[in-house]
Formats: sequence, structure tokens, C-alpha cells
Amino acid sequence: MTTDVMTRPAVLILLGPPGAGKGTQARMLEDEFGYVQLSTGDLLRAAVAAGTPAGLAAKAVMEAGQLVSDEIVINILRDRLAEPDCAKGVILDGFPRTTLQAEALDDLLGETGQKINAAISLEVDDAAMVERISGRYTCAGCGEGYHDSFKQPAKAGTCDKCGGTEMKRRADDNAETVASRLEAYHAQTAPLIAYYSGKGVLKSTNAMGGIDDIARDMAAIVTTATS
Ligand code: AMP
Repeated sequence: MTTDVMTRPAVLILLGPPGAGKGTQARMLEDEFGYVQLSTGDLLRAAVAAGTPAGLAAKAVMEAGQLVSDEIVINILRDRLAEPDCAKGVILDGFPRTTLQAEALDDLLGETGQKINAAISLEVDDAAMVERISGRYTCAGCGEGYHDSFKQPAKAGTCDKCGGTEMKRRADDNAETVASRLEAYHAQTAPLIAYYSGKGVLKSTNAMGGIDDIARDMAAIVTTATS
């Protein structure tokens, strides 16, 4: 079945190295546009926590800062995309990360007549990423992201969004693992910038500024790409 152009769910891809702010921006776009943030990192962490076969296979790879196999990630993403809350649109955060994943996504979207509205590249300096990543933490209740230097909750230790008081830090957000994750990004994911440029859907934004300024640029890109 082909989806009508007017009702076709929006598909937005966020590209950028770890620490570029993909998760933060995806959540802001989710709030503003009502699309669903799909983070393969979050889905994999949930699989690890649940001890599913995919999670068991992914755990050590994630701890080493390397990429989980395309097969596992594509299967997880395919299942999640089929859920009803994705009907309005999705913001893919951390997927695709390899050319094979990008091609698999093209195939998946092709099956339902969907198209990529935009692949937005968040441009940052690698040197700043270690500091960004080392200071970040999230609310265990709702997943809202915070940072020791850049974004503290209004009341220390209490989530601005849901009032939760349990905060957590990711096991792979440490200096050594970040180095591997940046290496994996440059070797395996950065080529997707050319891939999406070739398809005419690439948009770029300077992601070194303040969170709200970047969000404004991103919202403008999304508005144009979805209208
Ligand atoms: P993230 O939360 O996006 O930083 O992802 C955390 C970790 O999950 C990565 O370092 C990878 O080990 C794994 N991961 C997340 N998304 C993917 C993907 N699309 N392909 C392969 N591995 C992934």
C-alpha cells in the first residue's frame, strides 16, 4: 500500500558524532512537532536491561564503544517503526550509522511509500565532544537530558520535566569509550553525509552554539522539510 503524500509520516534523520546533541534536539523536536524520537541507543540499552537475546549480544560491543551488528539494529528499528505512535512522523536519533543501515532504511520506507524529509547533520568540533559527553546525565524517570556545565535542572537533583529525583549516567560516557565511539563515527557513519547529500535531502547546522539557538535552526529546517 502506498501512503498518500499529504498524510505520509515525516521521516527526519539526525546525523552527528556522539555528544553533538542529537538526543537533546530530537526530544525538543518531538515536543514541538509531535513526531516520535527513535533512538537505537535507547532501544539497545532497554534490550540490554531486559536481557533479551539482542541485548545480550549488544552489551559488550556497546561497552567497548563499537557499533552493534547491522542485523540486530535493523531488526530493532523495523519493529519500532511499525508501532502506531510512529504514524505522524519519526526523528531517527543514532540510526542509520552505516551505509548498510541507510540502505535497509530506504528499503523499509520504500515498502510503505515513505520518504526521508531531511537528514540533518549536526556539525561540531570533535575536541569539544569529550567534555560534553563526560558531563551529561539524564532523569531516570522521563529521560530528560542534563549536563554538569551546560544544562542543570532549576532545582539541583530534581528533573524540570517530571519532578523525578533519580538521575543516571551512561556506562559508555567515559573518556576511553568516547574515543572509540568518535572513531566509529568517523569511519562508519560520517560517509552517510555524502550518501544523503547525493539523495538531495542533506541539511547541515552548526551545533556548537547554545541549545536553544540550535533548536531554533533545527525547527526551521524541519518546518521547511515537512511542508
Ligand atoms: P547512542 O545512544 O546513540 O550514543 O548509542 C550508544 C551505543 O549503542 C553506540 O555506541 C553503539 O554501540 C550502539 N548503537 C546505537 N545505535 C546504533 C546503530 N544504529 N548501529 C550500531 N550500533 C548502534
